[in-house]
Amino acid sequence: MAQLELKIKPSPAAQHKKEAVDLAILGGGPAGLTAVIYARRAGLKTILIEKMVLGGTASTAFQIDNFPGFPDGISGIELAQRLSSQADKLGNNIIWGNATALKSKNKHFEITVDGKIVQAKAVILATGSESKRLEVPGEEKLRGRGISYCATCDGPFYKDKNIVVVGGGNGAIEEALFLTRFANKISIIHRRDELRADKVLADRAKADPKIYFFWHSAVQEIKGENKVESILIKDVQNNKTLNVLIDGVFVYIGSRPNSSIVKDLIKIDKNGFIVTDNSLQSSTPGLFAAGDVRQKSLRQVITAAADGAIAAESARKYIEETNPKTKI
Ligand code: NAP
Repeated sequence: MAQLELKIKPSPAAQHKKEAVDLAILGGGPAGLTAVIYARRAGLKTILIEKMVLGGTASTAFQIDNFPGFPDGISGIELAQRLSSQADKLGNNIIWGNATALKSKNKHFEITVDGKIVQAKAVILATGSESKRLEVPGEEKLRGRGISYCATCDGPFYKDKNIVVVGGGNGAIEEALFLTRFANKISIIHRRDELRADKVLADRAKADPKIYFFWHSAVQEIKGENKVESILIKDVQNNKTLNVLIDGVFVYIGSRPNSSIVKDLIKIDKNGFIVTDNSLQSSTPGLFAAGDVRQKSLRQVITAAADGAIAAESARKYIEETNPKTKI
């Protein structure tokens, strides 16, 4: 796969120790990048803070088939690249770094990014989510040695091998189908006897000759000395355990939100997702959330992008109302 450059070079202003902006956007996935596009088009002085690469987890998807306007699908990395170059054309104020603190101070917010302070009148949190871990013995030890959370990244290492995919949602089924390009046999381990994934994906997986299922089964342990050798699973209906010899494990059991930076500042639900109103404002005025990090019913690239647009527009209104002298 062609490697596309997804890093926007930081502007000279972004190198200074302290910077004051209208709007700071944390996270450069589809939600954050769309927010950048809308905010910059609205004339807001906007800074994007990203710790790794632009595009978020969507950029690791081999193919995105349900984003409107792409009848033949588009790879995650190409969509990410298109979004970032669209944002870049409108200005390239970006800080590459880890935001470690966010404080509300009088009428503005202060964000600490690797020792640098960013002062903003409003903030959009678009920090997304990360893969949930199985939390079974062997997972920590063998992560990266046969346990993966990214089929697009690691699938090619499993040519003609026998592997398992854990989970029954869209993520697990889509990636299991992708892995049929490489692996000899893929067994999906799911804790129930019905998939959560959309019917179209479930039907494709059930019809694929390389895909097998362990229904109502839970992973007990992943075994191996220096790399994955087998997986111990338990049939939760009859409590029988089975040790299956395998070469690799792909875990797709959902995600947890990256919301820890604001957990003491705003209302989050019991799973850590940020609670917002219709304008995507959190319980703290001026602090908005967009994309997978917020409590919502459908987590897709299209809904993340829509969130970014709404949050940017709401932030613009908030800044105008609370800073009447602000000339936007
Ligand atoms: P998901 O939809 O939340 O599915 C997670 C799956 O993992 C479920 O089948 C769940 O089982 C299982 N699971 C959860 N915790 C588990 C545990 N501790 N042990 C074993 N199994 C466990 O997550 P996702 O598949 O990552 O998708 C996340 C979001 O992105 C969803 O909204 C999804 O629709 C979206 N997405 C969409 C596409 C697409 O449309 N093409 C592709 C990828 C993702 P239960 O079913 O029993 O709860």
